Amino acid sequence: MIIKSAEFVCSNTRIDKLPPPTIPEYAFIGRSNVGKSSLINALTQHKGLAKTSQTPGKTQLINHFLVNKEWFLVDLPGYGYAKTSKTNRSEWEKFIKKYLFNRENLQCVFVLIDSRLTPQKNDLDFCCLLGEKGIPFILIFTKADKQSKIKSEHNIELFRKALLTWFEEVPPHILTSSETRNGCDEVLGLIDEVNQR
Ligand code: GDP
Repeated sequence: MIIKSAEFVCSNTRIDKLPPPTIPEYAFIGRSNVGKSSLINALTQHKGLAKTSQTPGKTQLINHFLVNKEWFLVDLPGYGYAKTSKTNRSEWEKFIKKYLFNRENLQCVFVLIDSRLTPQKNDLDFCCLLGEKGIPFILIFTKADKQSKIKSEHNIELFRKALLTWFEEVPPHILTSSETRNGCDEVLGLIDEVNQR
């Protein structure tokens, strides 16, 4: 997919204020600091589109971006920030569930996972939540440039094995780097494929 345009549409704290669900939508989510904003900027080749390194645990916003005037890229608030209180966590959960379970034009969720880490409980829990509800998702392992491919592949394998204790089949995965743009065309290719259906 060639990116011809990418523009910010709106930030929302309320699900009932989201833009009309008239075009396909793809959501990106992961732990705070996983590299979500960097990946969104790399995918859209638009440096300042998503704001990187925001203070985590602040206002929970759903950001909509319109890409090629054809589909929405959605930046969902991150999870798993250590300093977030229990109240914030349960608010986040309510908010996210409301979005995920009700957004009718949502085609697929890209779950971002730091490729340097062994499987983390909150990433696995989030995948299980999606699986239980039958929401299609794809795993994106981030920051591939920070370590050897062998190490990334090892962590990916551990994650897939952990998921296999819950699922019969594990969703596809893509190893990415926002620094080198490795894997970005693959992500866009998947989106293109679904858009063409
Ligand atoms: P977010 O909180 O998930 O939006 O994470 P950010 O995109 O703000 O990234 C967190 C930190 O990781 C920043 O310092 C980024 O520069 C760095 N980072 C993100 N992605 C990559 C990557 O692919 N490679 C490298 N080397 N650093 C990355």
